[in-house]
Amino acid sequence: MRVLGIETTCDETAASIVELSYDNRGIIRSNEVLSQIAQHAAYGGVVPEIAARAHVDVIDRLVARACEVAQVGLEDVDAIAAAAGPGLIGGVMVGLTTAKALSLVTRKPLIAVNHLEAHALTARLTDGIAFPYLLLLASGGHTQLVAVRGVGDYVRIGTTIDDAIGEAFDKVAKLLGLGYPGGPYVEQAAHKGDPERFSLPRPMYGRPTPDFSLSGLKTALRIEAERLQPLSERDICDLCAGFQAAVVDVVVDRTRVALRQFTEVAGHPSALVVAGGVAANMTMRQSLTRLAAEAGLRLIAPPLELCGDNGAMIAWAGIERLRLAMVDDISAPARARWPLDSSRDAAGQKS
Ligand code: ATP
Ligand code: MG
Ligand code: FE
Repeated sequence: MRVLGIETTCDETAASIVELSYDNRGIIRSNEVLSQIAQHAAYGGVVPEIAARAHVDVIDRLVARACEVAQVGLEDVDAIAAAAGPGLIGGVMVGLTTAKALSLVTRKPLIAVNHLEAHALTARLTDGIAFPYLLLLASGGHTQLVAVRGVGDYVRIGTTIDDAIGEAFDKVAKLLGLGYPGGPYVEQAAHKGDPERFSLPRPMYGRPTPDFSLSGLKTALRIEAERLQPLSERDICDLCAGFQAAVVDVVVDRTRVALRQFTEVAGHPSALVVAGGVAANMTMRQSLTRLAAEAGLRLIAPPLELCGDNGAMIAWAGIERLRLAMVDDISAPARARWPLDSSRDAAGQKS
């Protein structure tokens, strides 16, 4: 089984060919990603109109390239998958419409993938783990703890009541005059800083429900930064280290609570999985590895190129759905919002 996956929900245009291996993992034949970061950097964030136009400019070329690298033609794929949301609607429409056109021309089934489901299933592509597992999805737009019980079967255990973790990293980077997107810059600076110089709050720490709140932490950091003006290099590094340490403490605490609650909704987890762009953060990965070990579990974190947005995760979600005959038709809508725990199945039992 072989699927083409297309991703255009945010600021990466991506296309990939993935095959199903005999041991039920994915073999990535190609994984082409074109980042638009340079086009948005001057604005300190993604500009939706620029993003949509940039996707249009490169999508055809990128799909052709994904096929070329994989040495397959469109006649050799079993389905065409595209992220149909959630995301910036203009961009989503570019990828989904391209997939629909290719599906019509080739008469191959269309699969409209939830971008969050694709992040959620990446651990099965790389490690072939069984359901159920606990997923910490930490990306630019989402922060959720989810019991993954099966394809299309997700129970949200916890979520953020304000900012997503990636968003908080981005805002802190902006505040400190670092680059965009902020996560990698904050991590680099934190590496050189003293995490204990500033005592920043750990919002929600110890609460019985595994939810997150990050805006208070961000505000506390801003107050410290304003007090210190002008900021020295050392100040910036210490602020980043303090921020990252606070976020990691909160993430570990919230995930520990979610592991306890997991049993009630899904039984015994096969693993602890972290996914989404923030999963690239090494300090977070180390702390989560320790937490998983405490619970007798393995931490599965994607290789760095599969943490951020990519086409391979969309193609893989397509394979997972195609195996269960969960295909879509040409009327599948592009969705700006699409909660993971509502993506039951293609027939729309619940949506
Ligand atoms: P969503 O998946 O919720 O729709 P998105 O697709 O924009 O959002 P991703 O591309 O999965 O999000 O992740 C991007 C986010 O990950 C950015 O906010 C970025 O700052 C963050 N990020 C990337 N690398 C790191 C890192 N090393 N440490 C912390 N955060 C990081
Ligand atoms: Mg992105
Ligand atoms: Fe994403």
